[in-house]
Amino acid sequence: MSLCDLAPPYIRGIAPYVPGKPVSELVRELGLSDIVKLASNENPRGASPRAIEAVHEALTDVARYPDGSGFALKRALADRYLVAPEQIVLGNGSNDVLELAARAFLDAHSSAIYSQHAFAVYPLATQATGAAGIEAPARDFGHDLDAMLAAVRADTRLVFIANPNNPTGTLLAARDLRRFLESVPRSLLVVLDEAYAEYLPDDLCAHSIDWLRAFPNLIVARTFSKAYGLAGLRIGFALANTGVADLMNRVRQPFNVSSVALAAAEAALADQDFVRDSRRLNETGMAHIVAGFMRLGIEFIPSHGNFVSFKVSDANAVYQRLLRLGVIVRPIANYGMPQYLRVSIGLEAENAKFLDALSRALDQNAAPMHG
Ligand code: PMP
Repeated sequence: MSLCDLAPPYIRGIAPYVPGKPVSELVRELGLSDIVKLASNENPRGASPRAIEAVHEALTDVARYPDGSGFALKRALADRYLVAPEQIVLGNGSNDVLELAARAFLDAHSSAIYSQHAFAVYPLATQATGAAGIEAPARDFGHDLDAMLAAVRADTRLVFIANPNNPTGTLLAARDLRRFLESVPRSLLVVLDEAYAEYLPDDLCAHSIDWLRAFPNLIVARTFSKAYGLAGLRIGFALANTGVADLMNRVRQPFNVSSVALAAAEAALADQDFVRDSRRLNETGMAHIVAGFMRLGIEFIPSHGNFVSFKVSDANAVYQRLLRLGVIVRPIANYGMPQYLRVSIGLEAENAKFLDALSRALDQNAAPMHG
């Protein structure tokens, strides 16, 4: 018997998360120097200078444990979102708060629902608790809320919804989401993952945080990894009703967020000009890339995030060719989309390099294969 057999079968069955290829790995493998990474939906502008300054200041105190209650950041978030600090759960990335929700509410006798083509962490977090994962079929690559509602079972405790969704970039209208919240049994929790919310124009934003008052079963997850540009520091948060937040806080590690991340996030939150400029850059970059797709005759899924998924006949070959041309994008076969690649929106020069490399990679695709 192998020691691995001692782990519960649902743990042994977990398929590992496949992250975007790091630049350093491509440097090692191909010895390239001029590499553009557009594979993990990061902010190509970096972080706010105010956040970087806060990081430097916080470094002087790294011998101390962080404030495990995250008092200062919670107060800033509470002011911004008009919630009580007791309604906030801080996480080591929003990935952490998704897992905390799963750990707090799921067990081997329950189930969670997520959509086909939705963010990969929902099945992972579900499976790690031994709960059954139910994948509802997507509609036009987006969440089909009717199908999700129909999938609810007596043992369902969580429903995960990504809005916008990664990797498809699809967005649910606020009124449809609200109708869903009105329709699902109050005996299950809806985790609304809004990692890309800051990229939405005002008129498309669901005022989901205001809905917490009407829906005690709602958990809203947000992150500092995307528009705030702090992916490497790992910090995100959930807003929920006090009892739900309290349970999630009980299952987190006492010091799950570092002191450096706490300080950076507080400074980043205060610099909304940086967020606005990041949104604008994303809009321009998205238009640039979409225009390039149209020029090249490439089918793509219109996206509301800082990334867009596009269709190529041999996604793996095109991915490999792009790597050799110094451009890292993300294959999404593990999302049930084997013919698609996902590209994150970069700086203007990065987007141009991607489009240039893509047209070369596709030319090779069309060319007959020799040897
Ligand atoms: N939700 C969605 C939809 C995402 O795409 C991501 C990042 N890829 C996350 C959550 C988690 O991001 P983080 O842990 O960096 O906050």
